[in-house]
Amino acid sequence: MPHLASDMTCTGCSACANICPHSAIEMASDREGFLMPNINPDLCVECKLCEKACPIVNSKDLKNPEPKDAIAFWDNESRTKSSSGGAFSAIARWILDKGGVVFGASWTNGFECNHKGCDSEDKLGDLRGSKYLQSDIKKTYIEARDALKDGKYVLFTGTPCQIAGLKSFLLKPYEKLVTVDIVCHGVPSNSLFYNYIEKLESENENYSGISGFEFRNLRGWGIAPTAKISDGRKLTLTGISNLYMKAFEKSAIFRNSCYDCHFNGLQRVGDITIADFWGLGQQGKPFHHDVTKGVSLVLVNTERGREIMRGMKDCLYEERSLKEAIKLNHNLVRSSIRPANREEIIRAFNDSKMSLAEINNKFDIVGLGFKSKIRDMLITTGLFWHVKSVINKIRSL
Ligand SMILES: Cc1cc2nc3c(=O)[nH]c(=O)nc-3n(C[C@H](O)[C@H](O)[C@H](O)COP(=O)(O)OP(=O)(O)OC[C@H]3O[C@@H](n4cnc5c(N)ncnc54)[C@H](O)[C@@H]3O)c2cc1C
Repeated sequence: MPHLASDMTCTGCSACANICPHSAIEMASDREGFLMPNINPDLCVECKLCEKACPIVNSKDLKNPEPKDAIAFWDNESRTKSSSGGAFSAIARWILDKGGVVFGASWTNGFECNHKGCDSEDKLGDLRGSKYLQSDIKKTYIEARDALKDGKYVLFTGTPCQIAGLKSFLLKPYEKLVTVDIVCHGVPSNSLFYNYIEKLESENENYSGISGFEFRNLRGWGIAPTAKISDGRKLTLTGISNLYMKAFEKSAIFRNSCYDCHFNGLQRVGDITIADFWGLGQQGKPFHHDVTKGVSLVLVNTERGREIMRGMKDCLYEERSLKEAIKLNHNLVRSSIRPANREEIIRAFNDSKMSLAEINNKFDIVGLGFKSKIRDMLITTGLFWHVKSVINKIRSL
């Protein structure tokens, strides 16, 4: 039988399942809810193509040289529709204008996060917005390869391990492939998120009938998760209702491989890297523009990436230092730290008998003190980034 990455190191990128010519590998949830490859011995012919495609087992050189500097970027058209400064949409438009296909993470049935392709601007909205859980790649590596073989431009966006998976799956470079990796804090599983939604609905009748979810309220850097209710209401989640996002921020519910990520660091796997430029103006050089609607951090890692970014119009584009990029974005260079009680916390989220309040009482995730209450109040009133940018300005004086 082939030897794939261990349970601790497998990223769930699905390169093995996509490459198997005999459909002998299925991605299935493990007991924590994370997708792992399952090899069917009756179908496996031991060709070992899956081993060749696994970016962990077969650690080929998938990384690019370090970029020289960082770019503060926003796209005028999509900034307020995006999680950050809209860098993703600007790059996607470059591809779509050339008749290409864009792949990224989208919602299916409200709460399931899957990768999918889109070939027109009106469908781009499905891919916009950060979904803070692991997107299931499904068979999109195969779809991307088919589009490349048809001579189309392809933009593939995802976490660094997903971009490594794609590059490893393709086995050779393609001239019209553009890859964008996002700086990644870590990923919880689809099923843990689903269990959280079930708890929210059953414990508070205000939330019954949740039909969709936004992790960030799509006003630039808005960070308040919002539940969409089937009667049209949109409820901002704070306090215990926001337990999932708080556990995410504390790195408590991630996939095992995220705590020792092979793909962070300044040598990136994507042609372009995008993130939130949180540390702007915090390394001596002031930033003179309004940050409250979100600013993307863009790292240009290859010549292909440079060609695309050079062609950007109707945007803000300012060269900044790498030091500034790293200042408040630790996941650019290192993995999140694994808390000692991670397994227990994941078990509690997945346990249908434990309420959100009980989980919080046991693990003290939300923090219900004065500071948390003020933060929640600033978030719900939309003042959070205004106050933060004033504080940052005072700090940088
Ligand atoms: C799990 C996760 C962790 C992150 N951690 C950090 C971090 O530590 N620091 C930081 O600066 N930024 C982080 N980000 C990235 C940040 O939230 C923004 O997504 C990024 O800056 C892009 O913003 P935008 O305005 O260009 O794009 P948007 O228009 O908001 O588009 C979002 C882009 O991200 C992709 N995407 C969304 N959800 C997922 C997902 N679940 N899996 C794979 N791809 C996805 C979409 O395909 C699209 O390309 C994280 C994102 C995710 C999904």
